[in-house]
Formats: sequence, C-alpha cells, structure tokens
Amino acid sequence: MFSNDLQTSYPEATRFLTNAVVKDRLANSYIFIGKDSNDILKITKNLAKALNCSRDLPRQVSTPWQALTAPCEQCINCKWIERNEHPQAFIIVSPDPESKKEQIKVDNIRELLNTLNTTSECFRVIYFPVSGLQFLPPDSCNLLLKTVEETPEKTIFIFANQSRNDILGTILSRSQIIYITKKYNSVAEIINTNVKNEFSENIADCFSKNIVDSLEKAKQTSELIQKNEIGLKDYLTNLAVENYNNLKYKNQKQYCRLYKSVSEAHTKLKAFMQPKIIIEDLFLSLLNSQ
Ligand SMILES: [Zn+2]
Repeated sequence: MFSNDLQTSYPEATRFLTNAVVKDRLANSYIFIGKDSNDILKITKNLAKALNCSRDLPRQVSTPWQALTAPCEQCINCKWIERNEHPQAFIIVSPDPESKKEQIKVDNIRELLNTLNTTSECFRVIYFPVSGLQFLPPDSCNLLLKTVEETPEKTIFIFANQSRNDILGTILSRSQIIYITKKYNSVAEIINTNVKNEFSENIADCFSKNIVDSLEKAKQTSELIQKNEIGLKDYLTNLAVENYNNLKYKNQKQYCRLYKSVSEAHTKLKAFMQPKIIIEDLFLSLLNSQ
C-alpha cells in the first residue's frame, strides 16, 4: 500500500496502517507524532491515494488487493492528492495565516463540516498538519470533536504533531496514536544524516577531567539521544566502534576503561535501568583522574 521508500524508512507505521486498511479497521481519528513533518505529509498523502486510487478497477476501498498495492500515481485522484488539490479525498486544515495567533478558526471548522455533510464518492482524509493546543483554540476544538465522535462514513481525521504533550486531551482520548519515527540501519547513518558534528564530537571526546565535566557530558548525551531518538544500545555500540581501534594502541589504560564501562552500561540496559542513570554512570566511570 505504501511506496517502497516509506516502507523502508517507517516500517512500523506503514505496516500498522496497511493492516488497518486490509482488515477494514481504520480508526476515525489518528494522531501522527513525529519530527519530520514532510514525511508525515507523505505518509498521509500515500494513505489518501491508496484509499482513492481509481486505476482501471472500480473505486473500491478496503479490498486487500488494493490495500497492498502502492497507489498508481497516474490516475486523476492520485494526481490531485499529490498536488494538494483534491477537493474531497484530501483536505488540509491549517492555521489561518490572517489570524494573529495563527490558529485554526472556528469558521474553518464550520466550512469543513459543511463539506463533510455533502455526500462523496471518495474516502476522505482530513489532515491537520499542525494540531498543537495553540493551533486549535477551544471553540474550534469543541466543534471538531463532535464530528470526530460521529465521523461520517469513509472519513478519517489525521492530526500531525511533534509531540503528544501539547495535544488537547479530548482529541488524544478519541484518537489512535502512531509514532512516525524513522528506522535507521546504523547509528553511523543517523549521524551522517542528522547530527554529524554535534554527535561525533560527543563520541570522540568521551573522557573527562573532573566530575562536573563528566556530568555535563552525561547531560548533553542524554539530551542528544532523546532529541534524535537514538536507542541507548545503538549509542553504546557506536561509542565502542568509534573509539576501540583508536585507543587500542594509543592509550591502553583508556581502552580498558572504556571497554569495561561500555560493557557495564550494556548490562545495566539489559536490567532495564533508567537510561539517564546508565549514561551518568558511564561518564563518571570515564573520568581521567581515576
Ligand atoms: Zn491512482
């Protein structure tokens, strides 16, 4: 159902949505949480196309055949959706640029509801590219919630946001959350694509002179890992790979200490200790004065 690119980068999210379509169990409302808003848009469009692609078969949604094949990108529905011009199958609701606070105005929601009240051949995907609290003021939200609760046939709502923290509780409780997080093949790939300088520096310079320095490094590392959604196990592997060969002949004392510290961190990780504590222990054990 999804393009190869999206399936490779987002195996979990695409598998989950494909399953929902194949089993005819799409929820009325989804919250897509992820950092890459372009990719979230791509996934949403791909879904809208898959549900509306007309190809040479009659337009039938939710048949396994259609659900498992990527959309044709050639038919009028696919083309319109791609250009954000489909009046029924893919409707984007964004904050009103005229409004001072850049909010989604209640009038926009009314207009949307009018559109939804008309019958349509299409499977409608209503997309909110920014749906934090600040964008959905209470009056817009109340009106919207009623519709989400009694979603018209063949309609789904998709709210995109960077985190789940600033989404209104009433929307959260009525929606299914899907994390749109990228799968990388290696930590090296993450570093190359996202955070090259910041991260390489952190890994190459893991030893410290004093406790304050150690704790500062631990803090930065925790933040870096969280910000870039890197698994602690992957981080440790990369720390080892980057430094072992380098240190093995240059500084055996440091090499042994790093080996011991990384192994200990792995053991703690397996014992489900909190990542923050594991990282602090790790950097404290990498003090040069020891
Ligand atoms: Zn098509």
